[in-house]
Amino acid sequence: MKTVDLRASLPRRQRVVGLRELSEIGLVVVHCDGRDREPGDDDLAVLKEHAQFHIDKNWGSTAQPAYGDGLMYHFAVTSRAIYETRDLHEVTWHARGANRSGLAIVLPCGFDQAPTAGQIRNLLALLDWLINGRDDLQLEYKDVWGHGELTQYGNDTPCPGASLREWVQNYRRNGPPDDDFPIEGPPTITPEVFSAQLERRKSPALGEASGAYYFDLIASYGLDPAIALAFFGKESEFGSYEHSAVDRTAMAGAKNWGNLRPNPDLNQPPGGRATRRIDSGRYGPFRGYERWEDGLRDWCEKMLSATYRGKPLLGVLNVYAPQSDGNEPAAYAATVHQWVGGWRAQSVDLPRAA
Ligand SMILES: [Zn+2]
Repeated sequence: MKTVDLRASLPRRQRVVGLRELSEIGLVVVHCDGRDREPGDDDLAVLKEHAQFHIDKNWGSTAQPAYGDGLMYHFAVTSRAIYETRDLHEVTWHARGANRSGLAIVLPCGFDQAPTAGQIRNLLALLDWLINGRDDLQLEYKDVWGHGELTQYGNDTPCPGASLREWVQNYRRNGPPDDDFPIEGPPTITPEVFSAQLERRKSPALGEASGAYYFDLIASYGLDPAIALAFFGKESEFGSYEHSAVDRTAMAGAKNWGNLRPNPDLNQPPGGRATRRIDSGRYGPFRGYERWEDGLRDWCEKMLSATYRGKPLLGVLNVYAPQSDGNEPAAYAATVHQWVGGWRAQSVDLPRAA
């Protein structure tokens, strides 16, 4: 992931349209630039040209001309990078009635073009960071809108094009698409973010090995450590069982990363690398392990078994944490989305706005 701060590199005029507190931001407005994207486009040249266009344009509707003070979008997203183009404190003219509250994102893309897969991947990372990764912004999925959708403020425009508009609508209603959270795949967070989370939650697993060790172990199975970490958090609060309803002392000794169940047949071994059965109280029996690593290895192998492999996250959870056991798979998935989104955002080297 490449991120580039272009705030000092694009044409500006002195006058700033207006300044605001970050707490005033309540909307993310997604735009296209309306210019047909070509494969060989030079991102910087395209953005410079557009900034100059916004500076030279008379935005006024009265006899008094009103020229722009720079590119009117705060971020630009191409398949190559996320560009930070304006300070978030600066109000820009980009959507009637929503300038003061709006944070503007532009995807260089024609009205009749669909964004590229790379643009969508980078847009997802940017939105995850804005929504889950920043304490100074109070934004939620429901706050993300396409420019032309803001009809209640008098906006009437094909921007950001039919394809991107539909994508934005889905994102607003459902959050990041479920297929953005495959369990199998390369790591989507850094080992540092993974370890920091275990340390912050005082995970007892760190008493046996480092965060980097568990990270590499998960990755060696071809699974995304971010998802494995989210399961660990959801199942047992990273092994701490801090607010858990199960018998905390018994479960802490289980060293069972994903709260796997034992073989129900008491005459058979408990299953996998487990050495015993643990009675958790009202939630029934779980496998007990000698080491956290053993429980983690069993979880990884379970995810690669025919029951789960290749399924989207919600499909996995419908089996793994079924409603019949008193779980809510959709809520479980939403928590995974939120956590993993936040960790991915921390893993992206985006500059913080001053
Ligand atoms: Zn627009």
